[in-house]
Amino acid sequence: MRILVIEDEAKVAKALKEGLAAAHYEVVVARTGEEGFFLVNAETFDLLILDLMLPGRDGLEILATLRKRGLQTPVLILTARDTVADRVRGLDSGADDYLVKPFAFPELLARIRTLIRRARPDQVLCLKLADLEMDLVARTVTRAGQSIQLTLREFELLEYLLRHQGHIVSREMLAREVWKETARATPLDNVIDVHIARLRRKVDGPFETKLLKTVRGVGFVLREGDA
Ligand code: CA
Repeated sequence: MRILVIEDEAKVAKALKEGLAAAHYEVVVARTGEEGFFLVNAETFDLLILDLMLPGRDGLEILATLRKRGLQTPVLILTARDTVADRVRGLDSGADDYLVKPFAFPELLARIRTLIRRARPDQVLCLKLADLEMDLVARTVTRAGQSIQLTLREFELLEYLLRHQGHIVSREMLAREVWKETARATPLDNVIDVHIARLRRKVDGPFETKLLKTVRGVGFVLREGDA
């Protein structure tokens, strides 16, 4: 899940980036309205978090233009303006939700989950293997009902393995699809092995049934049973 944050205040932008990354979202930050506008047109995002008071183009103006051009991505407005008139104007310009600064981070995360679920009703939102479950919207992982804390990279690695469960995944595939490394100039094999080892400790360590297996000389496979 990729989120674009359009926010000019460095402190707020940094807090958002760190908090959302900790919640396993991929975050891109634009510091001006122009930059945000360019990124929305150039790349794909699952959600936009938009500040209203921006240098150059105002947030509402950007939003209205994007909606006029047919942008469907959910937009959450984040702002210090909190009069009823401001809220109404924000929602009228095409925002899906509105959060007033200062806000509580758990509330922001809850609203993000709601917006993403609403925008993608038909999508696979949960991946499962045996008692291992990944909620792709809440960005959480549990095994046998116990929460497992993963870093962003570990989460992406596990997501890839879950999507390919039962199939052998090579280090090349992981380098390309998880690390987005196309050139093999800097082999990532050691980095991948370290991440696999950490992931295995967290996902399999305390459990009797091991799910993440190494296929010697080939790669890895996530599956139940030995076959
Ligand atoms: Ca601002």
